[in-house]
Amino acid sequence: VIDLKDVSLTLGSGASMVHVLKGVSLSVASGEAVGIVGPSGSGKSTLLMVLAGLEGVDAGSVRIAGELLNGRSEDSIAAFRGRNVGIIFQSFHLIPNMTALENVAVPLELAGRHDAFEIAARELAAVGLADRVTHYPGELSGGEQQRVAIARALAPEPRILIADEPTGNLDQATGRQIADLLFDKARERGMTLVLVTHDPALAARCSRQVAMRSGRIEAGAAVAVSA
Ligand code: ATP
Ligand code: MG
Repeated sequence: VIDLKDVSLTLGSGASMVHVLKGVSLSVASGEAVGIVGPSGSGKSTLLMVLAGLEGVDAGSVRIAGELLNGRSEDSIAAFRGRNVGIIFQSFHLIPNMTALENVAVPLELAGRHDAFEIAARELAAVGLADRVTHYPGELSGGEQQRVAIARALAPEPRILIADEPTGNLDQATGRQIADLLFDKARERGMTLVLVTHDPALAARCSRQVAMRSGRIEAGAAVAVSA
């Protein structure tokens, strides 16, 4: 469901130019849970941005859910992402002046769903937040905010769920609950999960680990049966 071949990417300009990805090839089969690990600055977050079509590439090919993303317009990639890729960040990225319900429903509404608020209520209930729908992010605990972010990512029923250190801002017990939730939802809905983590215990729960170093994948790039 994910197939990157020889992807290279340089970011920044002048003195701040960095060759962030140096020929990355990675294939992930449908339904896999892949944990990306590696030192700070090795390019993990950038790789996730490429998978989400949020960052273009200088060379190589990016094929997600059978579609080639290279060279497509931003609008067409945004539409593609809505149907295929859900994203969760370490710092939750909720909109502060919207309630939990609105945070989940508004993106759906913008995508043209007329039943956005019903779906949002259902997804929030599915992550255990039925009694927090009218709360604003500032009125929620970190774990609750991350549940809202998960509900928002799940709501469009994407095939691929991408998470950048989803437990990085949470204490150990809350982090474990959030990880349980992510793995449960991914399994229930047959979604492919790609997550970046510095937590060896979380990486160990993935079906495969991919190790990055200095813009390259050191280990784990290939999958036995590719899709
Ligand atoms: P961490 O574990 O600390 O989150 P990471 O593996 O996610 O690290 P990235 O965020 O992917 O690392 O960054 C990889 C490298 O690319 C870093 O050295 C960073 O400074 C550089 N970089 C990222 N974005 C840009 C940019 N827009 N311009 C210049 N350099 C950048
Ligand atoms: Mg990062």
